[in-house]
Amino acid sequence: MFDADSTAFEIFPWNRNFETGIEKIDDQHKVLVEILNRLAWHFASSASELDFGHILDELLSYAAYHFKTEEDIWKSVLGQEEMVKNHHDGHQLFFVQIQMYRSSNEPEEKVMGDLFDYLTRWLAFHILESDRRMALTAKALERGVPMSEAKREVDGQLSGSVSVMVSAFLEIYGKLSASTIQLMREKMARLRAEDELAGLQREKIDAALERQASDHERQLQFLAYSDPLTGLMNRNGIVREIRSVMQQSHLEAESVALVSIDLDNFGKVNARFGEEYADRLLGLLAKRWSDVLAQGGQLARISGDEFVVLLLDSRKVEAQLHTMRLTAEQPFVLSGDSVSMGFTAGVALFPHDGACDADTVLRQADHALFRAKQEQKGGWLFVDASEQRQSAERQLLLADIRTGLADNQFWLAYQPKVNMRSGEIIGVEALIRWDHPVEGMLSPIHFLPALEHHPLNIEIGEWVIEEAFRQMAVWDSEGLHLDVGVNIAAMHLQQPGFVEKLEEILARYPHVAPQRLDLEILETAGLGELDKASSIICSCEGLGVTFSLDDFGTGYSSLSYLKQLPVKTLKIDQGFVRGALSNEDDISILKGIIGLSHAFDRKLVAEGVETREHGELLISLGCYYAQGYAISRPMEPEKMGAWKDEWKTYPEWSSGEKI
Ligand code: C2E
Ligand code: MG
Ligand code: MG
Repeated sequence: MFDADSTAFEIFPWNRNFETGIEKIDDQHKVLVEILNRLAWHFASSASELDFGHILDELLSYAAYHFKTEEDIWKSVLGQEEMVKNHHDGHQLFFVQIQMYRSSNEPEEKVMGDLFDYLTRWLAFHILESDRRMALTAKALERGVPMSEAKREVDGQLSGSVSVMVSAFLEIYGKLSASTIQLMREKMARLRAEDELAGLQREKIDAALERQASDHERQLQFLAYSDPLTGLMNRNGIVREIRSVMQQSHLEAESVALVSIDLDNFGKVNARFGEEYADRLLGLLAKRWSDVLAQGGQLARISGDEFVVLLLDSRKVEAQLHTMRLTAEQPFVLSGDSVSMGFTAGVALFPHDGACDADTVLRQADHALFRAKQEQKGGWLFVDASEQRQSAERQLLLADIRTGLADNQFWLAYQPKVNMRSGEIIGVEALIRWDHPVEGMLSPIHFLPALEHHPLNIEIGEWVIEEAFRQMAVWDSEGLHLDVGVNIAAMHLQQPGFVEKLEEILARYPHVAPQRLDLEILETAGLGELDKASSIICSCEGLGVTFSLDDFGTGYSSLSYLKQLPVKTLKIDQGFVRGALSNEDDISILKGIIGLSHAFDRKLVAEGVETREHGELLISLGCYYAQGYAISRPMEPEKMGAWKDEWKTYPEWSSGEKI
């Protein structure tokens, strides 16, 4: 009687016993039953009265149509029989009865209960008793049974067990109507309650989630932009402020000041009182400075003992710094002792001509601070104009490099490395060139320094490695098999994910063996912690790639690098080679390096071999591998094949060769 689908609740379920055997009539009965069920559902669901009235009207008009169909059929078969007339009267009575219910003054609830009781009983009786009787009689007549006999036959058929069944049906369907409506109502109420509950819960949950999200957001904002120790902004916070100031249009030139501050001797406070007291001092100082900050001033702590002040009115800088100095000098009492603090500062003013973003201005202020620390600790310095110009130029150059990379303006020249005695080519070194649309061909000295400590350096570095592999593949296809040395900045090597990136590049060139790539590490002084660098090198060597230390001998602790870094080759800095012909000291250094390479079993390549004499000297000292103008200048990759065909070593170099 009911189903998961609430609309399947039926006050009058259809039953095969209701079939009369006359298809047209049965179909119409089913429609009547469907309308009745719909009516009950509407009533139970307390839908609008208007709907209920409409459905009841629909029922009445369909009933009228149905009665007419029936009566036409009976008339055509049974003629003017008494039973046909009775049947017609029964139909008329139905309308009268319904009208009575509609105009009743009794309470609605009761009227409706009675109405449904009537409708179900009536429909059941109408179909089971009246229509079936008519249909059976009609069928008998059709079989040629005379009318009186047919009536008797049908009486017999509808008596006994069948009549018991009919009364049982009437009884059951009558009761069913009341209890089904009750059930429907309960179910409706439950559905509504569930709906409300769900709505309520959803609202509550949504509200709670929203609250939580905004709490989180606030917390995140706080964490992202503030310094938990002092409650001031952190670096991100002040950068955000600087950016928002920079976005204001009509800022007068140099009207805003950014001050970078470093506490003097904070390390000593830390050592003397311990971290906890030192932290407390930072908190107290932050509080004092916040109190004396001029209007339009913002204070941030960007790291340990470094603060930044952003002042919207740069004319107040001097006064502000004096006040801050006085407040810092007022003694702080820490564990019974009193300490006063001093600081050094660098000031950058903005906006100014040239590229100007928050990071640049911060860097400029830092730079002025750095100078101030060297020149007049305890004081402050403004960024000077030439420094500012240089920094702006660097920004322009960086932008230019970025464009150059995107427009393919960079390319790699290659310079051979050979065994001077045998003439064997042991590889080539890739050297970057910039075919600048305005400046013409630029060598690295014109643009690499600007990239120092800049992420673009890594982008270029990756491009160089990839390009070197591409070139090896091209040469291979021409039957020219060369190993390539690629220069790599120490900073790039230590970039997180370097090994994975390298692996990706190697995977793109499955036909070029990784062993053919040699990474020449530059600026070894920038390698930082050697065991970390060493583990990166080991991982890369695991992939097959080899390493050299470039410009060996120039770094101040070459020996420790040599001991700790698992590199195969040392490249002697060209300065020593160049000087060796005239300078005894350089010869001694060369000898020393050659001795070291033997002791540590590293291959040695001399750079800057400009003349035959340089080569001869190196050979006499025991260094046989070389690179330099005497062998070849760096060249376009297309020229390498022809050069190789032409190349043979000098007789002076090959004499004494024992191959
Ligand atoms: P490096 O790695 O020591 O490269 C050798 C430099 O010496 C090259 O200068 C080369 O042209 C030059 N050279 C070669 N033989 C002689 C010679 O006989 N006499 C003299 N005077 N010079 C010689 P280049 O190409 O201007 O490169 C300069 C530096 O730029 C390189 O020094 C390297 O440190 C850096 N570099 C070059 N290409 C790249 C690159 O792709 N990535 C990175 N990160 N740095 C690179
Ligand atoms: Mg090199
Ligand atoms: Mg070098």
